Amino acid sequence: MMLYRAENLTFSYDDIRVLDIPRLDLPEGQFTALTGPNGSGKSTLLMILGFILRPSGGSLLFRDRKTDGWTATALQEARRQLGTLLQAPYLFRTTVERNVAYGLRVRGIPRHDISSMVSRAMHTVGLAGYEKRHHQALSGGEAQRVALARTIAAEPSVLLLDEPMTNVDSASRSIIERVLMEKNRDEGVSVIMTTHDLDQAYRMADEVVTLVKGTPSPGAMENVYNGAVYQSGSGWVFDTGRISIAVPGGKDGSRTASIPPETVLLSREPAVTSALNTFSGKITAIVQRNGSVDVSVDIGELLISRITDGSYRRLGIGLSDIVNVIFKAEAVRLY
Ligand code: ADP
Ligand code: MG
Repeated sequence: MMLYRAENLTFSYDDIRVLDIPRLDLPEGQFTALTGPNGSGKSTLLMILGFILRPSGGSLLFRDRKTDGWTATALQEARRQLGTLLQAPYLFRTTVERNVAYGLRVRGIPRHDISSMVSRAMHTVGLAGYEKRHHQALSGGEAQRVALARTIAAEPSVLLLDEPMTNVDSASRSIIERVLMEKNRDEGVSVIMTTHDLDQAYRMADEVVTLVKGTPSPGAMENVYNGAVYQSGSGWVFDTGRISIAVPGGKDGSRTASIPPETVLLSREPAVTSALNTFSGKITAIVQRNGSVDVSVDIGELLISRITDGSYRRLGIGLSDIVNVIFKAEAVRLY
């Protein structure tokens, strides 16, 4: 069964269209990461999946049921099957316990069950014993974990999380990461999480969906940059503010560029090539995939090169090595 199926789904704020999704299937039990540049529609899509916003057009199926004609009551019932954690969540000015119990009370769960469910959720997020603390006596990371405890307390079968680890200290970040992985792997909970951290997305998720200007773009999952195109000498360049890359001409006004990772070559030696784009940088991550290896190189922007296992072994590269990256102007896609 599909958890969600979107078809020709659109969303506009006033008259400005910010989502345009020809099709998107999110299977039950999957850990999905939604990535993409700022303003690409991640939070908006998450709020649609959370039944907080209604689509402007198209259809959205939830567990094979159409959602477009739903009444307010039906929407509310669907919402209760979900655990939704929006960005910068709000804690009520009261104790941690009451904050975590909130969703349970709303669901009408009996009082004697509430306290054990609250304790269990607090234990899961590593805050057992914090129940009586006031919300003000929490660090930012602890407050985020309390918000997560509130989200998971009713043990929803779906978790929707908007940048749950952004602006959180590293100890809390690794706890939140572990909780989400365990919920998904051990309990079969479907997790849909927005993040702008691609390494995190690939480490955690079964599927990474990248939004570019409100549309999922399977060909441009990684290496997506914001910037501007301009003419320089006889050619065109795309400037991200940190690096300038040679691009094909004729796409004036593009503000987003992507470079398919399969088109990015790596070399230990300075490249002798007619390709216009050659940079050198330090390797910041190496991720083994199925038959290939993703090597992230910091060239001013993070750039992922996807190479075969064989090339990876032949290159003999490791973390923190300085390498050269090479890609053709024609490989760069402009939006
Ligand atoms: P992301 O989470 O990927 O950064 P958002 O979903 O927040 O993207 O925003 C998508 C687009 O919608 C952006 O252009 C943003 O400026 C616009 N937007 C977001 N919220 C509102 C709003 N409440 N009113 C009008 N425009 C909005
Ligand atoms: Mg957002």
